[in-house]
Amino acid sequence: MGVYGHPEASNMVYLGLYALQHRGQESCGIVSSDGKGLISHRQMGLVADAFKEDVIKRLEGNSAIGHNRYSTTGQSHLKNAQPFVVEYSQGPIAISHNGNLVNGALLREELERTGSIFQSTTDTEVIIHLIATSKEATLMGRIVEALSRARGAYSLLFLTLDKMIAARDPYGFRPLVLGKFPEGKSRGAYVFASETCALDLIEAEFIRDVEPGEIITIGADGLESLKPFPPAPHAKCIFEYIYFARPDSKLFGHNVYQVRKALGRQLARESGVPADLVTPVPDSGVPAAIGYAEESKIPLEFGLIRNHYVGRTFIEPQQTIRNFGVKIKLNAQRDVLDGKRVVVVDDSIVRGTTSRKIIRMLRDAGAKEVHMRISSPATISPCYYGIDTPTRTELIASSNSVEEIRRYIEADTLAYLSNDGMYAYFNGEKQGFCDACFTGNYPVHFEDEGHTKQLHLFEALSR
Ligand code: AMP
Repeated sequence: MGVYGHPEASNMVYLGLYALQHRGQESCGIVSSDGKGLISHRQMGLVADAFKEDVIKRLEGNSAIGHNRYSTTGQSHLKNAQPFVVEYSQGPIAISHNGNLVNGALLREELERTGSIFQSTTDTEVIIHLIATSKEATLMGRIVEALSRARGAYSLLFLTLDKMIAARDPYGFRPLVLGKFPEGKSRGAYVFASETCALDLIEAEFIRDVEPGEIITIGADGLESLKPFPPAPHAKCIFEYIYFARPDSKLFGHNVYQVRKALGRQLARESGVPADLVTPVPDSGVPAAIGYAEESKIPLEFGLIRNHYVGRTFIEPQQTIRNFGVKIKLNAQRDVLDGKRVVVVDDSIVRGTTSRKIIRMLRDAGAKEVHMRISSPATISPCYYGIDTPTRTELIASSNSVEEIRRYIEADTLAYLSNDGMYAYFNGEKQGFCDACFTGNYPVHFEDEGHTKQLHLFEALSR
């Protein structure tokens, strides 16, 4: 999230981060520029806890960038919280990164050999070191050189004393949008955000997506766009639509909620089953369940109710409570479920442990039959482009058939959406998307020895 040219820049970024909290709950940070220096605050935990009024006041200036983090590489630790700030020969620069480099570890090794000293264990810091050590004369020259060495997924924001720079990798894995405040007090102020829901909250207008391979600079002279990289086949993350993004966002040109509902309708067409009610796993399964219910003409009921105030850790009671972890978050309603044949809809199965517990809860609450329907194909491969998935062996669908998974989660029937069905909303057009988590087809390959090594490192890190 970034705001340029606004008298309350850090406050706007804070609100934007609040709207984008779903993209990362581990740590957060804001860096502002008052024209003389960069001011930074980073903290573990949620946005609302990390930023109090006194902190926002300290983050003075007309421009600020921010970040919510959940770790895909590097441990969960304050030193890995973003935005990073470094001083290089031309002054201070801050960076916020969404995505994951596939050659981050290799570049880091190389930079460390030539004397770079890292403060963190993330791939993001690599980009900043590449910029700092570049021999190019201008900042743009340095950024272009650095990014042409980075491979994989990056949607980036940079902040200097007087400029904000946004960049998206040529594949366009992760989203990044450009917006503007309407005429008035904050006239001319620009916004960048991962999703449009952040613009809605601060009443900024959506202008367009930052395009894959595009670098946008905003400074005193206005906006400048550059496309310095050779074009690559676009690989927008389909999982953003399935699970990750907020349903009220317009993502890669489409409203996420509508896409999810269409996935649910398609799922009902592909694998309908006689039942008394359709119930979502809240919140992730809600739009798909609405679509499923609409298409199948089976009533939608909330058989599972979610507690929205679930924190990170709980004091577990000494006496065991069955399915404790899931029960803290979800409760099954006997009055809705008793004696009923239930279709339960969720967006994905990762390890299968949650689904298994949910199904047990539904049966404990009296459900006569439980038919699990998943609004995406089976997750068979880990993501190396910025979605936090466990290692291949932990993904239940990587080594088990649908029937084996059904038996494990103890459902009466189980069906996933077909791969073709996932693209029905896009008229079957698969071009332009990355669906590696469902197909194993990775758009950025790891053929050479270096990338294979990198892959092993990621697998080791996430174990
Ligand atoms: P499980 O059945 O234990 O594999 O959990 C599946 C649940 O995890 C589903 O409700 C998904 O919405 C959710 N989920 C899917 N991908 C992720 C992710 N990358 N991070 C956290 N939760 C996820």
